[in-house]
Amino acid sequence: MKKLMSFVLVLVALFTCSASADVKRDQLLVFHMDFNIIQMRRDLVMELLNTASKSGYNAILWEIENKVMLPSITPAISPDAFSQEEFKEILAEADKLGLESIPLMQTFGHGEYIMNCPEYRHFRERADKSDCYCVSKKSVREFQLALLRDYIDLFGSRLKRFHLGGDEAYWFGSCPVCEKRDRMELYVEHLEVLSKELRSRGIRPGVWHDFLLDKKCLNSKAKLPDDYTVWYWDYSCGSDDLRAKDSADKIAKLSSSRYELIMCATCQSWGDNPFFVDARFHRMNITRLGAIARDKRYAGFCLTSWSIRQSLKRLQRPLIEYAAKRFLDPSPDSAEDWKMAIQDTFGSYCTPEMVDELFVSGRDLINADSRQWSGLKEGLPPPEGWFKSWCAKNPAKTKNIPIKAKSQVERTKRALNKWKALPEPNDAVKLAIRAGEIKIKQCEMVAKALKGEEYYYPISEVTSLYSLEQSPRSAENSAKLVLGFFAR
Ligand SMILES: [Zn+2]
Repeated sequence: MKKLMSFVLVLVALFTCSASADVKRDQLLVFHMDFNIIQMRRDLVMELLNTASKSGYNAILWEIENKVMLPSITPAISPDAFSQEEFKEILAEADKLGLESIPLMQTFGHGEYIMNCPEYRHFRERADKSDCYCVSKKSVREFQLALLRDYIDLFGSRLKRFHLGGDEAYWFGSCPVCEKRDRMELYVEHLEVLSKELRSRGIRPGVWHDFLLDKKCLNSKAKLPDDYTVWYWDYSCGSDDLRAKDSADKIAKLSSSRYELIMCATCQSWGDNPFFVDARFHRMNITRLGAIARDKRYAGFCLTSWSIRQSLKRLQRPLIEYAAKRFLDPSPDSAEDWKMAIQDTFGSYCTPEMVDELFVSGRDLINADSRQWSGLKEGLPPPEGWFKSWCAKNPAKTKNIPIKAKSQVERTKRALNKWKALPEPNDAVKLAIRAGEIKIKQCEMVAKALKGEEYYYPISEVTSLYSLEQSPRSAENSAKLVLGFFAR
């Protein structure tokens, strides 16, 4: 009997092990490396790949935009772009770490980095908006097909999946030619031009979910073929934001089809401060979407990190690790997993409360920084006087900004006192303190400038902070983007 019992126990143990290994083997756990607006330093890229691999991720979604020298986009290439050889070395490192590389190429909206170039202005859906392609134009299809082939050459035979974008295409279908078409039909027609090229090489196409749940597309007879991977993103689901709605209905609509579904949460998105992400908010989002992806056994879980927000990537490490833990092997108490992730980055003396006090929302002051002054992801500093005229048009909102900035100064100072008292501070703790001190200077600048007082413009501190993670040119541009309204 004893022997039988131990045999059963061994079987149970084997089953448990293989069940947890299955999650890792069958499902994708993806980290998003976003080079939109910023050029990450190579050492940071390597560090993030290592963090991802060590935490259990098995794939990277590469949004390289103009930060690799691809021949089809020569006029748009950033001066600090990686050469193809340099980037291929990075991809080889990802291979070694067991990370599948999935490229993301935008094919509808978010083409700002292309269509702000004079050479490509004629691709626009609307003359005054740089983000959206007119996909009815033959020249756009030819251009995108050539660019797609550049990606295929760059990533090589390792490619299994390819993400064709398709989020936030605000102006899609609005030009005189496109508006006569059925939106879904035009969308699918354009995607299929590119997807045929992918399928012929055994690569599976994928898209963001946006068009599939768009009210204007839902009644169309046109249908996206079943073999697409659909990446569902929702960055407030699970949070206590009153405007946040649970994703369950939307996901149910998608999962009634036969698409391979990947749930996407985020560790950096709209609403974040340029120095710290809102850790509490993202944690709730990750907890909820990670659980959905895991429990429903969807194809995967992805953690995005939108670089235009500019918060330091190294300070996002606890969220990166936490997302992996919640998807792969969640503890019954999510607070335990969070505490473990925090202490892994900031040391055993750091507490979850200390992180919540320092890593707070940037929504209060979002009007006072110029990262996305035009509403688009352009990465261009604002024109002179833009903020002054915004303030004149929005006196009620402007009135509150100095009060909010002052309260952020006080709050950050209080939080930093605890961080500075940590025994044996490691590099991550020192980085958080440095970012906190710069945040205080930025908030003081905002408060004083709006009250018409003399103010200090901390451009050199912000540039030097960002240069820890970005190329010199990128760090300089990022600092101007964050502080641009107050340039002097
Ligand atoms: Zn058009």
